[in-house]
Amino acid sequence: MTRTVYVNGSYLPENEATVSIFDRGFLFADGVYEVTSVLGGKLIDFDGHAVRLERSLKELDMEMPITAEELLEVHRELVRANEIDEGLVYLQITRGAADRDFAYPAEGTPQTIVLFTQAKPGLANSPAAEKGMKVISIEDQRWGRRDIKTVQLLYPAMGKMMAKAAGADDAWMVEDGLVTEGTSNNAYIVKGDTIITRHLSNDILHGITRAAVLRFAREAQMKVEERGFTMDEAKDADEAFITSASTFVMPVVEIDGDAVGAGAPGPMAKRLREIYLDESLKTAI
Ligand code: PMP
Repeated sequence: MTRTVYVNGSYLPENEATVSIFDRGFLFADGVYEVTSVLGGKLIDFDGHAVRLERSLKELDMEMPITAEELLEVHRELVRANEIDEGLVYLQITRGAADRDFAYPAEGTPQTIVLFTQAKPGLANSPAAEKGMKVISIEDQRWGRRDIKTVQLLYPAMGKMMAKAAGADDAWMVEDGLVTEGTSNNAYIVKGDTIITRHLSNDILHGITRAAVLRFAREAQMKVEERGFTMDEAKDADEAFITSASTFVMPVVEIDGDAVGAGAPGPMAKRLREIYLDESLKTAI
């Protein structure tokens, strides 16, 4: 089956979809994106992703080129057309195509909007969640507005390759001695009965999964501390895990070659994963 994608108002087979070589997303990484997961053919946390998208656009003085209702409709139509049961919908909006110039193009230049799906069978019952993942630490060398979800992802991609080269699955980035986040996820440790994760600021992406997981954790009477933590604290933690729209809650069992806790997924991470999946399925649309 040829995948159907959405480009600037049209649904097309993926091999017929095109974007200009002058697109500012291509030339300047002048664009933002969102990734929404799909479980049982339904969108998880859609409203959260739509709200963050509007914020990212606003921070970059870009318009929302489509209404929230239309956006939901496009997501749903792609999930339907591509028969996605478990997977994700990727959305990207750029400032559009214009002759190359650092200055933004004239107002009214049409923006580019692209959406496509990726099928990920087994996303919810992932074997990786049973096994847990290994992370290494690297220096955080990204720009200073990590709260904006831009498509400028080269350093995270480099970090992922550093992790792979070290035989690990991902990298946690460290700035001024404190962990910011993973290359494409928010980072957490558990010490005793307390979940610790970095506070919100321009230094990290405000994860939609993070917000939901912390809400569920508090509702389940778990203690949450939003603050930076060191790699030493992480290595000494009882548990560690990450969250993102495409991994939900994923245990971390090894950090820089040292086992975390018992070296196996911990009870808090497992419980939060279950709660997150149960609760977000209830509100999936
Ligand atoms: N931090 C970074 C740097 C990310 O790229 C992502 C995922 N895009 C996240 C955190 C997690 O955010 P979310 O839960 O909204 O997927």
